[in-house]
Amino acid sequence: MAIYDISLSISESLVVWPGDSPVCVTQPRHIDRGDHATVSHLEMSAHTGTHVDAPAHFIQGGAGVDTLDLNALVGLALVAEARDADALTADVLAELAIPLGTERVLFRTRNSNLWARGLQEFDEDFVAITEDGAHWLIERGIRLVGIDYLSVAPFSASIPTHRMLLQAGVVLLEGVNLSGIRPGMYQLVCLPLKIEGADGAPARAILMD
Ligand SMILES: [Zn+2]
Repeated sequence: MAIYDISLSISESLVVWPGDSPVCVTQPRHIDRGDHATVSHLEMSAHTGTHVDAPAHFIQGGAGVDTLDLNALVGLALVAEARDADALTADVLAELAIPLGTERVLFRTRNSNLWARGLQEFDEDFVAITEDGAHWLIERGIRLVGIDYLSVAPFSASIPTHRMLLQAGVVLLEGVNLSGIRPGMYQLVCLPLKIEGADGAPARAILMD
């Protein structure tokens, strides 16, 4: 069985959302300095790198990431390629031949090339799901949507896509690196950290075939 790690590495050089504090990793205790153990301290946004959004991210009183249904986060997932798309609109999604009954879909777009090239700076021009694209996914009964950049929604229109999908109970997996992944069906395992009541959490996400 092949295991593909589609998670971004968390490091101080990881690109973060504009305005979010950058990742900061320190070692308040270190064996090099005579301490009996090395202990790292992490400082970062809950939406760092590969992460899951919870309803609380955009919906007042919404559920926290710790209450998300693990059945949505683990199971068969389609990696669908939209290589030439500038936006994932309803029309674009309809062309992708997503089989009826698909519950989880991860979109491989030109965004993945950014990770492959070793992205240094935030790119506002990433491919994301438009409002009518979100509507299409909800109508199709999709339970989990993954995207290969830090947001499912376009940079200039964050609210509608997030709100619609989260309101409909769709789990959002953001910041996956699909640059080495061929389109097709895989088993997805995505486990966000169990942070009580949090609006999101970093996750390790893998695909298996
Ligand atoms: Zn997020």
